[in-house]
Amino acid sequence: MMRAAVIGGGISGIATAFYLMQRNIEVDLYESAPRIGGRIGSERLDNRWVDFGGKNVGKNYRRFREFVTACGIADYEYFGFNTSQIINGRVVRINKEGARLLNTLRFMSLCGFDGIRKLYPHVQAILKDRSQGVLNSDYFNRVADKFDHTSLAGYLKEPCLSHIARPVTVRMNGAEPDECSPGNFGSNLALVLDSYEQLKPDMHGMLDAFQEFAVEGSLRILSGHRVTSLSRDPGSPLIKLGYLHQGVAETAVYDRVISALPALRLGFLLEGILPQASALLRKVRYYPVAIAIVKYHHNVFTSSQRAMVFDHTYPLSNAGAYGINDLNLVRYTFSGRASRSVISETTSAEEVIALGESIAGPWFSIRDNQRESFAYRYITEGLCAYSPMHYRLLHEIDQQLDQFAGFGATGDYRRGASIEACFRAAGECVETLLRDKH
Ligand SMILES: Cc1cc2nc3c(=O)[nH]c(=O)nc-3n(C[C@H](O)[C@H](O)[C@H](O)COP(=O)(O)OP(=O)(O)OC[C@H]3O[C@@H](n4cnc5c(N)ncnc54)[C@H](O)[C@@H]3O)c2cc1C
Repeated sequence: MMRAAVIGGGISGIATAFYLMQRNIEVDLYESAPRIGGRIGSERLDNRWVDFGGKNVGKNYRRFREFVTACGIADYEYFGFNTSQIINGRVVRINKEGARLLNTLRFMSLCGFDGIRKLYPHVQAILKDRSQGVLNSDYFNRVADKFDHTSLAGYLKEPCLSHIARPVTVRMNGAEPDECSPGNFGSNLALVLDSYEQLKPDMHGMLDAFQEFAVEGSLRILSGHRVTSLSRDPGSPLIKLGYLHQGVAETAVYDRVISALPALRLGFLLEGILPQASALLRKVRYYPVAIAIVKYHHNVFTSSQRAMVFDHTYPLSNAGAYGINDLNLVRYTFSGRASRSVISETTSAEEVIALGESIAGPWFSIRDNQRESFAYRYITEGLCAYSPMHYRLLHEIDQQLDQFAGFGATGDYRRGASIEACFRAAGECVETLLRDKH
């Protein structure tokens, strides 16, 4: 039986292991943290688990939904799309629950004429063929060829830039529009065109279900195992993997190895053996994000106004209800340039939350609402913002990785950072690697 190792137990690694298991391959999944999940990881908040990272599941997340069903989970709860922003001192709300025509008109006025003219063909391309709404798709590679000499800020004009593009890029890429490229914007637009649900047993429950599923299959989950080196096993076609477990260095050999690490992490791992690939991988940009989930005594939101995005002058990019029935639980997200200038790894959770409360306070019931508990996480490489002409960079990376037979790489920088895009990239990587006859 073929043996494979997957490095990284985030959703990309989980997806890779899942697809390898479907091909009857024996898999070892290496995760450096004590528990799998990576950026979809959870933490306790009083008597429940709360998810910090990806938790919104699009209606168009076909691959992820198939996976979840295979793990025995079938329950979702509606989350929808409900947000608002302050324009000229007034709250402008957009959601998919209210009057459709009114929302469309609001959306169009936020886009402006130039925004409609530029984005409409992209929206049409995605609606016609959903598989185009990812990185490295034929349609958006052509957009990159034409427009990636400039940033998204150079490509779009006001009001579209501030009211449509920026809320999306700070949320999904942790980056300002001048740090993003038009050719990559399709992977964001596809998410805006989706409508969302959340798993009833949350992401933590999904991870538990996956671990049970793994026990029944040919997968070993090696949590607390940090991969430290990769090399060709001398005199054999196998790949030798070095790892650290409880402070002890060990090795193991495999027929195939797939990295499901963020590009930057893989870049560091390959530094010694594939320096050119390593340098290219480190060109992919990641930006930090801080997330605070705070429980208040009374409801903060109403069911019709559940979130607000803030402009580039604020370190708080978004404050929203944790779930449709969690109107007293606020998820504060800090990302973008202003956030980077005031929040770092060393900033305390209390300071960050106080900052969020001072910004969102005037708009929601926060000021006289008692804070009961909170959970907080700062992720240094939190959100991927890819690179200009990203598809060409991916091509160059693959040319370098081809020198290392039996090795493949997937992750959030391949097809986009959404959970569904991570599944798509993982499936494609497994297909390619198993076709590889080296
Ligand atoms: C705040 C936030 C909100 C998001 N919201 C959504 C959403 O609502 N919907 C959506 O679709 N997407 C969302 N996303 C995007 C999505 O969650 C991420 O793109 C996705 O989780 C990335 O998964 P990954 O497996 O590629 O990377 P990671 O989750 O980073 O996984 C990499 C794993 O590798 C491990 N590792 C690192 N080095 C080593 C090593 N040397 N050896 C072994 N293991 C190692 C790490 O510990 C980690 O577990 C969100 C992301 C964030 C940060």
